[in-house]
Amino acid sequence: MVSTKHVFVTGGVASSLGKGIIASSLAKLLQARGYKVTNQKLDPYINIDPGTLNPYEHGECYVTNDGAETDLDLGHYERFTDCPTSQANNITTGRIYQNVITRERRGDFLGKTVQIVPHITDEIKHNIKLLCNTGDYDVIITEIGGTAGDIESLPFLEAVRQLRWELGEKSVLIHLTLVPYLAATGELKTKPTQHSVKSLLEIGLQPDILVLRTERELSDDLRKKVSLFCNVEPKAVIESIDVSTIYEVPIRMETENLDQIVLQKLELPLNGIPDMDLWKQFLYKLKNYSREIEVGLVGKYVELHDAYKSIAESFIHAGVVNDCKVNIRWLHSEDITSDNVAEKLGGLKGILVAPGFGNRAIVGKLRTVEYARTHNVPFFGVCLGMQMAVVEFARNVLNLKDANSTEMDTDTPYPVIALLESQEKVTDKGGTMRLGAYKCELKEESHAYEAYGEKLIEERHRHRYEFNNKYKEQFEKAGLVSTGVNPESGLTEIVEIPALKWFVGTQFHPEYKSTVSKPHPLFVSFIKACLS
Ligand code: GLN
Repeated sequence: MVSTKHVFVTGGVASSLGKGIIASSLAKLLQARGYKVTNQKLDPYINIDPGTLNPYEHGECYVTNDGAETDLDLGHYERFTDCPTSQANNITTGRIYQNVITRERRGDFLGKTVQIVPHITDEIKHNIKLLCNTGDYDVIITEIGGTAGDIESLPFLEAVRQLRWELGEKSVLIHLTLVPYLAATGELKTKPTQHSVKSLLEIGLQPDILVLRTERELSDDLRKKVSLFCNVEPKAVIESIDVSTIYEVPIRMETENLDQIVLQKLELPLNGIPDMDLWKQFLYKLKNYSREIEVGLVGKYVELHDAYKSIAESFIHAGVVNDCKVNIRWLHSEDITSDNVAEKLGGLKGILVAPGFGNRAIVGKLRTVEYARTHNVPFFGVCLGMQMAVVEFARNVLNLKDANSTEMDTDTPYPVIALLESQEKVTDKGGTMRLGAYKCELKEESHAYEAYGEKLIEERHRHRYEFNNKYKEQFEKAGLVSTGVNPESGLTEIVEIPALKWFVGTQFHPEYKSTVSKPHPLFVSFIKACLS
């Protein structure tokens, strides 16, 4: 059996430098050289998972097939490599402590004092190694969230230190830092990188490779200087210059030989050159499109685009398939009223109403659906967006006054969206929704079937409320039909208005499954409709 090798990715100087993109790019390149690779993210916060976090705090909550609510970096990993991730790919401090404390309560530590070292660090190491035990991977790339020097990342870094000691030659540490440009003096500065490496050295971690994020090209002299101060070979000081799209980063990293240096250090063969042809074709089409359209994304966290990361990326993938650049008009549902809806949504070729929770800004979503339906603008409702399409239709077409989702109004006379039966006794908020992949059977003669080209699909979910099948007949008679149903539970997963050009609502989240090599069929079909 091959023994799995490890790459660790840490960050320094500033947050948001793109560790996730560097880790995903490296995974892509190693995969393109024939290696089986997976990415893992260690998050230093105390929440068990990001499922309970407000999107403003941490961006989108990404959901895996096995129903884990995870960091949005896992979305990048999947979009780049097309390999599904799982709960084991995202570990938080909260989960580590929860596991240790549960064992302590069980008496597993036999009267010992339970401490950060070794018990917490052992648990971290155990979780890093879990992915090796599957025997499925040649290389595991583990990204440590946060920035070197943070109090909260220390146990993770200490665990990495111990693991590197145990693994010997079988691991590589990449440290990503920022080289700021000082306009006043016209210089790129290396001191923050030197300090960041020093703070890693203080805890016993020597980076093997430095990836320097920069706005300007790095000179050979600068690389030599960093190499000298940080004990890293000059060729392992790598430039990561700002680029117009994240999808260019793997190509840049290939030019900088990141993958080759990693393999040499891991003592693994290069296996020729990476096969990046399909990726390069995608990138070429992304940059050379023949048309542009604007679609609206209506949600209540639009100030932070990361809150809808997977949707925005799905639009990019679907645009490439349709030879078109998709520009997003980010619209806050709170700002949309009956008076200004036509002005706010005017000129859009299509409208997507986003997922979400709670009553705030719901009226703007309903107005948006009404506008799309009555003006025959292609409409895509995702999760809450689908539910609001059902509520709008109930109120304005079926004339069911005050019809609602019981999430918004428990006393509504017409609960057209209602709590899932399985949720009735659930009181805890964390990890208790209907989560992960479920099957869905499509009705032939539907946009959904036309898009997927197959009858049985599987998509990921994250919700507590559901289309109320008691009203199904009434809706269908009036023209809103259920075109996708879960074969086991009979739950309605997709609704459509066939009389309109393209009006589709999905209870599931298609955006989690769109990747560079497999753009999501519903997004592709939606953009196609927007263009016609
Ligand atoms: N709040 C809705 C529910 O729980 C929709 C969830 C979502 O949009 N992800 O059913």
